[in-house]
Amino acid sequence: MPFMKLIGTGKSKDIYLADNGDIIFEFTDRVTAFDGAKKAEFLHKGMVCCGLAEYWFKLIEKEGLPTHYEERIGETRMRVANLKILPVEVIWRNYVAGSLWRRFEKGEIRLPEGTDAREGALIPNGMLEFTTKFEVVDRPVSIKEILDAKWMTEKELKHLSEMTNKINDIMFSQLLRKDILLADFKVEFGKTPEGKILLADEVGTPDGCRFWDRHAYIRGEFLSLDKDVFRKNKGDLSQAYLEIYNRITSQG
Ligand code: UDP
Repeated sequence: MPFMKLIGTGKSKDIYLADNGDIIFEFTDRVTAFDGAKKAEFLHKGMVCCGLAEYWFKLIEKEGLPTHYEERIGETRMRVANLKILPVEVIWRNYVAGSLWRRFEKGEIRLPEGTDAREGALIPNGMLEFTTKFEVVDRPVSIKEILDAKWMTEKELKHLSEMTNKINDIMFSQLLRKDILLADFKVEFGKTPEGKILLADEVGTPDGCRFWDRHAYIRGEFLSLDKDVFRKNKGDLSQAYLEIYNRITSQG
């Protein structure tokens, strides 16, 4: 095993610095929700998230978008390039769920044009949102605040929005073939020393996406195969994570 120095522990991942300067992610079985207030561990979670992140990073690279993925180095480990992570998280929404629905119910926001005012409604052209990354509690931020704070240039913001839109197209269509609806997801980006923006952190895992079974949705039910199982006490998280893993990675 090459030398690795623990440099951080995230909500679900331990982060190491390798001796060549790369980052090693160790996907643990930890799960947290509600900004760390609810915590637990579930068997197989690390393997599922590592495996799905690998699956999507490879597919997204194949479709021509650059990512920080280098290689999988074990059941729960992945080597990635060491980037300067941009201070905003990017959320793409295809359906009304989670904090969007909560904010709407409280009268804090309007839903995008053409979207029915109900949980689970389709957002016809999708919706992009930004939240803070390096604050204690994530909060939505406007484009104006991002630019005023000089977190990113206008050009970078446009590039990152276009990349997120394409990542949605890739994941949405692939998941539909497996009868899974991608309700929403979160991605992060980082910059190389040369200033190139790459998709970073993890992508397409049930920790950072909402996956709904399409048949159940047609029947009017939400069958979650993601972290909502834990957030909302909807059953056994290990089982839900293994099911989404098997459905996404199975051939055909
Ligand atoms: N999300 C995430 N990390 C966060 C916040 C959100 O991965 O710190 C994901 C979440 O799993 C969901 C999407 O981003 O797939 C939208 O989350 P939302 O804003 O609805 O917040 P939540 O309901 O998770 O509080």
